[in-house]
Amino acid sequence: MNLEIIKAIKGLLDIPQKIVIIPHKNPDGDAIGSTLGLWHFLKGKDQDATIIVPNDFPKFLKWMPGSEEIVNFEKDPSVAKSLINNASVIFTLDFNHLGRIGQLQPLLESSSAAFVMIDHHQEPDDYAKIMYSDVGMSSTCEMVFNVIEGLGELESITPDLAISLYTGIMTDTGSFKYSSTTSRTHLVVAKLIEKGAKNTEAHNKVYDTNTPSRLHLLGCALKNMVILEEYHTAFITLSQDELDTYNYKKGDTEGFVNYGLTLEGIVFAVIFIENREEGIIKISFRSEGDFSVNEFARAHFNGGGHTNAAGGRSDVSIEETISLFKSLLPQYKDDLNA
Ligand code: 5GP
Ligand code: MN
Repeated sequence: MNLEIIKAIKGLLDIPQKIVIIPHKNPDGDAIGSTLGLWHFLKGKDQDATIIVPNDFPKFLKWMPGSEEIVNFEKDPSVAKSLINNASVIFTLDFNHLGRIGQLQPLLESSSAAFVMIDHHQEPDDYAKIMYSDVGMSSTCEMVFNVIEGLGELESITPDLAISLYTGIMTDTGSFKYSSTTSRTHLVVAKLIEKGAKNTEAHNKVYDTNTPSRLHLLGCALKNMVILEEYHTAFITLSQDELDTYNYKKGDTEGFVNYGLTLEGIVFAVIFIENREEGIIKISFRSEGDFSVNEFARAHFNGGGHTNAAGGRSDVSIEETISLFKSLLPQYKDDLNA
């Protein structure tokens, strides 16, 4: 990785700092894994570091070492505010613009800390003093590994640090299957296993902890799936009433969107999930091949992400959102047929 970036990070860490590490809202495996990985590293260097999440994260990530020390801004806003106000360095991980951290945005905008961005999303904003942005990376966790390696600190990777990074690489690559998975990704993962990451345990704890109600919710989602063969598209809807019926808990819908892509011939899969409390429809987009869901989400649903995985939102009803979505497809017919 770029030597200038390593030099700049080294410069910051050569003296004791008050460090805050922040991932995006609704943090996923890569967001939690990368922040915890960096946090373990900084603690090992005797830095004063705290992770602040904009809101809660799923139970299937709460086994990760150190996760119990994460400050949740929604639960403890005053603690989070004072940490941010006193921070000399703020690492922002796994997101590309401050709009991705919800209510934390104004606090960061008024902070005078030195910002370090580590991220692999497309079209990053340039709010950070030190910017390590690479859309070619499988995950932010792989990038945190690169930083540690660049600093010449591979020796300080403990089993807790290793399992944090392993888990995020695993979730962001769909267990090493997405096209973002490179030979380098596998080399990094091999190194992490050598350093004590219990790989089988990570898979079991993330993927084999279903509840009956979650599987029933999945059944409901699959029943609701609509296939639009003409556009090589499949979409799923879940209303708030359906979520309530199946006792929805944060993280329960993770991965549902991918089922559309398992159908032969489908290259574009979408899930629309109603969130009555926030008054929005949260949308996840996935694609196979060249169709850019990042561009689609950006252009129509106030979102973004990567070429093959992106998210967005809609402020109108689920029915209106679906009609809008369907009305957009004809203009993409050629791209979806490619
Ligand atoms: P997911 O669909 O799993 O929530 O997110 C897929 C990818 O898109 C992730 O990399 C995530 O960070 C990004 N993403 C999800 N929602 C949004 C959004 O509302 N805006 C932007 N810019 N990116 C999003
Ligand atoms: Mn990521």
